[in-house]
Amino acid sequence: MKAGSIKAEALDRESAADAILDTSRRLYLLRHNTTLSGNISVRLSSNTMLITPASLDKNRITAKHLSLVDIHSKEQESIDGPKPSSEFRLHSEIYLRMPEVRAIVHPHGTFSLALADALGSSLFEKALKSKHEEYVYYIGRFAWQRWIKAGTPEIARAAASAVQKGATVVMLADHGTVAVGKSIAEALGRAESLEKMSERMYIAEQIRMARNMDKLAKSGSSKSK
Ligand SMILES: [Zn+2]
Repeated sequence: MKAGSIKAEALDRESAADAILDTSRRLYLLRHNTTLSGNISVRLSSNTMLITPASLDKNRITAKHLSLVDIHSKEQESIDGPKPSSEFRLHSEIYLRMPEVRAIVHPHGTFSLALADALGSSLFEKALKSKHEEYVYYIGRFAWQRWIKAGTPEIARAAASAVQKGATVVMLADHGTVAVGKSIAEALGRAESLEKMSERMYIAEQIRMARNMDKLAKSGSSKSK
């Protein structure tokens, strides 16, 4: 199987807003985000992005709640609309360095974070890559980023460097996932795939543990006879 062939997608502001709002609701309903966590953006031009706002219920926002932001700005401010997400730098730094990236989806998924926390970075990455075909096709290239405080220029630079080196999904330890794409569908698909693969690996791990305990219990009872 070859890596996905989704076409690059240039969106006007209205279409970008529709796509962001749809993605935001889906991420919430899929339980990849809570009411206030996570953020989504779409590049509108070489200088601007449309991004979800700070501190608003992402399941209820409308187009007027999205922030139009200059990607060169170092301040948490918008050209139009409310104050952008406190993680705006994470998005703008990637857009500044990677002209081909047109959308960024940043959920705080439960299974990927739990599994990465329990297994540690190298085992988690090994488990992911063991599902080779799915990994290559749906995720592309995974990178791990050690914990850095959210919303800082440091975490933005670290994530952007990983994307510059070829990562399509960056896992921020104890925080969430940053998935990039030529379109919002591609970025969302990558973030969802990481979460779905993590959920399956977690369930498989539970079944393995239950079977091992069952075997232990059976061998214990046969010895005591
Ligand atoms: Zn975050």
